[in-house]
Amino acid sequence: MNTAMGTIVNQTIYMQTEDSEIPEEILGQIVELEQELLSWRLDTSELYQINESGKTEEGIPLSEELEGILEECLKVSNASEGAFDITLGDVVQLWDIDRWAGETDTSGYRPPDEKEVQEKLAATGYESLQLENGSLFFAKEVRLDLGAVGKGIALDYIREYLRQQEHVTGAVISVGGSILTYGSKPDSTSWKVGVVNPHDNATNIGYLSLSGEWCVSTSGNYERFVEIDGTRYHHIIDPDTGYPADSGVSSVTILTKDGLLSDALSTACFILGWEKGSVLVEAFSAEALFVDMEGNISMTEGMQQYFKLSDR
Ligand code: FAD
Ligand code: MG
Repeated sequence: MNTAMGTIVNQTIYMQTEDSEIPEEILGQIVELEQELLSWRLDTSELYQINESGKTEEGIPLSEELEGILEECLKVSNASEGAFDITLGDVVQLWDIDRWAGETDTSGYRPPDEKEVQEKLAATGYESLQLENGSLFFAKEVRLDLGAVGKGIALDYIREYLRQQEHVTGAVISVGGSILTYGSKPDSTSWKVGVVNPHDNATNIGYLSLSGEWCVSTSGNYERFVEIDGTRYHHIIDPDTGYPADSGVSSVTILTKDGLLSDALSTACFILGWEKGSVLVEAFSAEALFVDMEGNISMTEGMQQYFKLSDR
């Protein structure tokens, strides 16, 4: 199976001449990105080294790639008034949803206690990060977690790679809930990117009809969660409370040209909900589609030309 970043990678690639190495190379690029740059679990990555360095006052020199990524992340943190926050690593780890969501028997799961959550939460905050002259400064020691943007960043890398492959004419690549469309289909019909029904994830509520290059990212509470006594604990944490976000949203799908942005905005909007989220995406010229707990769909005006409802 093609997996990377803890998720499944699917590739459909159209080429002028058959080249079986391309999917292999794309997967290799995602794995490399994870191992060398983004992972907060593997000690080979730059991010891991930063988390372990324990430096607070002295700046940590960054690679150009990571500097660019952190810069974009901080823009979204600022614009979302901190709903999107890559310094939540310790709180995310405390909830430990990613590990338990993969288990068949979750009866041993216990949510963390309130006091612990508040303690860890107090030690987070994107405002404590500062980028200056290619170095990262910490006002307090926080643990970085790029889980909300890693797959989107992968799409940006894949797009750059595809642009260098002259015989590739079109592609749709999905890395978990983040999807890249590139070029066109041989028959020139548009790409159809399904929007999963968060209340029955074997079905789609509809699809986006797209031509050319786009990034589509979805954040939802229907894949990585643990349910205990009827309460669903999922993996997107509201930095205001330290608890799984509870804004009445079941899923948010973002459409934009940039992978990192699509992924960051989907996470931020899940926390903010429709009213604040739809204002946020506008500031980044992105489009959004929200599905709420009751199954109602709300979308930005610009999304309407791309979204088609499934026949029911
Ligand atoms: P998104 O909404 O895009 O992101 C949710 C994730 O963002 C959370 O899991 C958390 O990490 C983080 N987060 C939570 N709240 C906030 C917030 N308010 N602001 C910012 N970030 C927040 N999974 C595995 O099971 N095993 C692995 O080995 C593994 N390795 C990975 C390596 C990389 C480089 C990446 C990017 C992901 C990896 N994952 C792995 C998956 C990861 O643990 C998350 O489950 C996944 O990234 C969530 O993506 P999403 O699109 O479902 O949700
Ligand atoms: Mg995201």
